[in-house]
Amino acid sequence: MIPVIALVGRPNVGKSTLFNQLTKSRDALVADYSGLTRDRKYGNANYEGRKFVVVDTGGISGDEQGIDRGMADQSLAAIEEADRVFFLVDCRAGMTATDEMIAEHLRSVNKPVYLVVNKIDGLHAEAQSAEFFALGLGELHLIAASHGRGIKQLIEDALEDIPESVVEEDEEDDAARGIRMAIVGRPNVGKSTLVNRLLGEDRVVVYDHPGTTRDSIYIDYERNDQSYTIIDTAGVRRRKSIRETVEKFSIVKSLQAIDDANVVVLVMDASEGLVDQDLHLLGHCIKRGRALVVALNKWDGLPEEQRDYVKKELNRRLVFLDYADIHFISALHGTGVGHLYESIDAAYESATQKLNTNQVTRILEDAVATHPPPLVNGRRIKLRYAHAGGQNPPLIVIHGNQTDKVPASYVRYLEKTFRRVLKLAGTPLRLEFKGNE
Ligand code: GDP
Ligand code: GDP
Repeated sequence: MIPVIALVGRPNVGKSTLFNQLTKSRDALVADYSGLTRDRKYGNANYEGRKFVVVDTGGISGDEQGIDRGMADQSLAAIEEADRVFFLVDCRAGMTATDEMIAEHLRSVNKPVYLVVNKIDGLHAEAQSAEFFALGLGELHLIAASHGRGIKQLIEDALEDIPESVVEEDEEDDAARGIRMAIVGRPNVGKSTLVNRLLGEDRVVVYDHPGTTRDSIYIDYERNDQSYTIIDTAGVRRRKSIRETVEKFSIVKSLQAIDDANVVVLVMDASEGLVDQDLHLLGHCIKRGRALVVALNKWDGLPEEQRDYVKKELNRRLVFLDYADIHFISALHGTGVGHLYESIDAAYESATQKLNTNQVTRILEDAVATHPPPLVNGRRIKLRYAHAGGQNPPLIVIHGNQTDKVPASYVRYLEKTFRRVLKLAGTPLRLEFKGNE
């Protein structure tokens, strides 16, 4: 289980600077929720060999009149999702009333809070940070985020009781468990109803077992001799315990389910149309290269105008999503649910098929012969051979000369050609170019 750390504090204390330090590596940013939940940003951090998710919460300005109302909802949500909270204060600015307000709230939260005193560079850190002891949050962690100072120690302190190596499930085990599909979507779109429907089908044999990743539940079952595992973010089969109240939507949980899946079934509510949160989840699926099936749920009883409207919206807003099948279903009545499997199976097959070097090279040669790449500075771009670079999503590596100059339109042409000839469905395809000069 990968720990989640939330960064909180008032604006300008250095939260984004620390966030950037922790997520420096390429592709670290997993989701930017600006505009949706103010500034909430999620990053995958791999810092000195420690893996965790870091959430930057924007800021709590203190102008919001009282911590209860004022602490931005998104900060509260981030704290709730987190395993650790880093509360940042500014050593240069000294302690402020807002710091005290935030501290008061954090003292009431039942989570490990680390008081991080930032911007100690050029200061007599020990002396000038001492006033922050008054916040009543224990030990001070002195850092200079912009200089990278103190961060390693902070991470070690915060994560010391969490085992360092997250055990990766081995591939063989994955294969044995069949198609792993994550059922994701914002609250109330019908995920639970759909999961129950999928499991309630005839000839489904369920092997229930409690979840491993965060709060998602993994449910194994078999249908027509094919094994599936549903990654259930809605917590349908969660064992009822006294502590469990209403299932809460968690972005971290959804992101992790997407990461852990072979195929994502993204559920949207047709009666409400497409909303930003749907598109953010979709964006994440695309970024992670996940095979995808879109289920427009609650299609039952929708007036004709709404159906037309939703279809238009899909065309307008999902133009870039040309690879995913879209199903119009009613999880409540079961209409169209069985057909989801056709797309899920096909997407899984496409995403995980082993590509053969000869075959992809031949497709490349044919594509180049039909429609040669353009001249650049009087010299023609040469694309010589291709080989498979990975699965889920499939990656094709293309070798040649001046490959850094291949225009985007030509990349799209190649992608389309590979897609068509290899009969890829439901999965993105990635092309990588390698040059000799
Ligand atoms: P946020 O609003 O909490 O996300 O704060 P930022 O990360 O945007 O930082 C606010 C300002 O403080 C920026 O001008 C940073 O360059 C500066 N800053 C951040 N960390 C440090 C530090 O360790 N030392 C100094 N001197 N400045 C810092
Ligand atoms: P979740 O929060 O995404 O798990 O959503 P639920 O499965 O709990 O469903 C939210 C509400 O939508 C419930 O009242 C369901 O009965 C209703 N619902 C789910 N699927 C459908 C559907 O296909 N049609 C209609 N009309 N209502 C549905």
